[in-house]
Amino acid sequence: MQYSKLVDFFEKILSKNKRLIKTLFISNLLKKSNAEDLEILIPMMQGNIFPEWDERKLGVSTKYVIKALKLSTGFDDIENRWKKLGDLGEVAEEVISKKKQSTLFFQPLTIKKVYDNIVKLSSLSGDKSVDRKIQLISELYSLANGNEAKYITRFILEDLRIGVGDSSIRDAIAWAYLDTGFLVKCKECKEITTIENKCLFCNEKLEKVEFDREKYNQILEKIQAAIDVSDLTETAKAVRENTLDKIKIKAMRPIKAMLYPKAKDMEDAFERLGKPMALEFKYDGFRLNIHKKKDIKLFTRRLEDVTKQFPDVVEYVQENVEGENFILDCEIVGYLNGKYLPFQQISQRIKRKYDIEKVAKDFPIIVNVFDIMMNEGKSTLNVPFIERRKIIQSIVKENKGKIVLAEQLITNDIEEANNFYQKALDLGEEGVMAKKLDAVYKPGARIGYGLKIKPTMETLDLYIVGAEWGTGKRANWLSSFTLATKELKQIGKVGTGFKEKKEEGLSFEEMTQLLKPLIIEEKGRDVKIKAKVVIEVQFEEIQKSINYSSGYALRFPRVVRLREDKKEASEIEYIEELYKEQRGRA
Ligand code: AMP
Repeated sequence: MQYSKLVDFFEKILSKNKRLIKTLFISNLLKKSNAEDLEILIPMMQGNIFPEWDERKLGVSTKYVIKALKLSTGFDDIENRWKKLGDLGEVAEEVISKKKQSTLFFQPLTIKKVYDNIVKLSSLSGDKSVDRKIQLISELYSLANGNEAKYITRFILEDLRIGVGDSSIRDAIAWAYLDTGFLVKCKECKEITTIENKCLFCNEKLEKVEFDREKYNQILEKIQAAIDVSDLTETAKAVRENTLDKIKIKAMRPIKAMLYPKAKDMEDAFERLGKPMALEFKYDGFRLNIHKKKDIKLFTRRLEDVTKQFPDVVEYVQENVEGENFILDCEIVGYLNGKYLPFQQISQRIKRKYDIEKVAKDFPIIVNVFDIMMNEGKSTLNVPFIERRKIIQSIVKENKGKIVLAEQLITNDIEEANNFYQKALDLGEEGVMAKKLDAVYKPGARIGYGLKIKPTMETLDLYIVGAEWGTGKRANWLSSFTLATKELKQIGKVGTGFKEKKEEGLSFEEMTQLLKPLIIEEKGRDVKIKAKVVIEVQFEEIQKSINYSSGYALRFPRVVRLREDKKEASEIEYIEELYKEQRGRA
C-alpha cells in the first residue's frame, strides 16, 4: 500500500471528532488492505510501531530529526522554525514542501518502506548508530512530500496523536469484514453510515431498518475475546480470513490482566457481588503473570517480560507448581523474616539489569497466587472464579515464605467480612479484594467481577505530559508536572511529594532523568512530554474545572510513587465515577 493512502487516512481522521465517523474511516481502510498491509497498518494506526511491552525502542531524539531535516532539505534554520511552529512534524512539512523536488526519478513511498526504516532504527545501537539512524530518517524524508514528512516525523518521535482507540479498531474490524447489519447507505447523501440516529455525514434522518442489536453485540464480544488473548493485528487478519475460532489463549504470549474497580465499603461489595462472596487480602506489591510452557516467563501488568529479574520466582514456580502449560495471575510482594516490605523496596527489582542475584537476596519476595487464566493448555477464562481457585489449590503446593495462595475467606456475613478486612489491615496489607464467585475472567477489563476495598482515598495513576524547568537550585531539574488521564486529557499539575535528595524517595533528579528523553517540545521553561511515565497521585478532592481539558482538577495533589508497573493512566470515566462518589459522601 502506498504511504500516501495512510497519510490521507490520518488527515481524514484528524478532521473529524465523532468516534463513529473515525471508526468508519478505519473500517474503509481495513477493507482495502491485504494481510501484509494489516501487519503494518494496525500498529501504525495505534501510533506505536512496537507494542508497549516490546523491548525494542526507536531511540530517536528530536536532535536526530533536526539533523535529518537539515541533511535532506539543505535548510539550516530548523531549530528556529521549530520554536516558531512548536511542532517538529509541521516543520518537516514546511521545509520538505519548500525543498525543490527532484524530478529525475519518482518512487512512491510505501507503508512497508516507512515501517521497515523505522523498525531498523530500533536495531541500531552504539557509537556509529547515530549517523546510520540519521541516514535512515533522511532517506524517508527524501522520498516524502511535505504532508507525508509530517507524519513520518510524528511516527519517529512516537507522537502521532490521531485519537484512535482500541475499541474503535475492534468495531472497524467487524464492520470491514462481517455482515453486522450496523451499516446502511444513506439515501440522501449516498454515504455509508451507522444505523442509529441520523446520517453521520448529512444529518438526514435514516429509514427504519430491522437491526438485531443482540447479534451485533455478540459479534463484537467474540472479536474482543480474540483480541484479549492475542492482539488487534492477529484478530483483524483472522476475521478477514474467517479463522477467528482458531485464536486461542496460549502461554508465553502476554495477555492483559483483569482490573478491579473500587467498592465504597463491605456492604456495597455484597450488594454488587452477591452473597456469598470471596474476600482476599489485597497485597501491596506488583502484579505478575506467570506463564509456563516448558520454560517459565514472567510478565508485568505492562506486559513487559521480567523473567530475568526474578530468578527466585522462576525457581519457586518450577519447584512448587504442578503442570507444564499454564498461566497464573499473582501479586508478588517484598517479604523478609515473615514481614511484608514496602512496595518501593522491591520496585527497583523490575528494572534491574545487573547484580540480579544479589538484589534478589537483598529484597526477597513472596508470590501470592490469586487467579489462573489457563491450565493444561486450556483456557480457564470462562471457568467460574470459585472453580478457578480450586484449580490453583490443586496445582500450587504452598511453600511458606515463597509461594502461597492469596489468603481467602468465603462468607455471606458482613461482620465476619469486616473482621477479615481488619485483619488484613492489621497485617499491613492495603485492604481486601472482594470477588464474585461465579464470575469469569475478563482480560484487560475493569468490570467489577472483583472490587477493591481499602481505607485510603482512591489515588489516580496519571501520565506526565508536561513540566517546567526549575529555577534557582532546581535549575537543572524538571518540576511542576502536568498530569493527564489515559485519554491524554489534562487534570492538573503536581509538584508536591517529590524529594530534593535521591535517598529520600522519588526525587526531582530521578524524574528529570526519566522524562528528559521524552521531551517532544520546549518553549521557554515549558516542556511537552510524551505520555509514557505514570505516577500515582493522591489528592484531597476532585473538582470540576474549566482550566484543564478533562473538565476536572485535583485539589492538593501529591505524588505517592512512580508506577513502573503500569503502562496506562486512569480513565476519565473512572475519574467521573470518583467525582460522583465523593459528592454522594458529602
Ligand atoms: P489497584 O492497583 O489499586 O487498582 O488494585 C488492583 C491490584 O491489586 C491488582 O492489579 C493486583 O496487582 C493487586 N492485588 C493484590 N492482591 C490481590 C488479590 N488478592 N486479588 C487481585 N488483585 C490483587
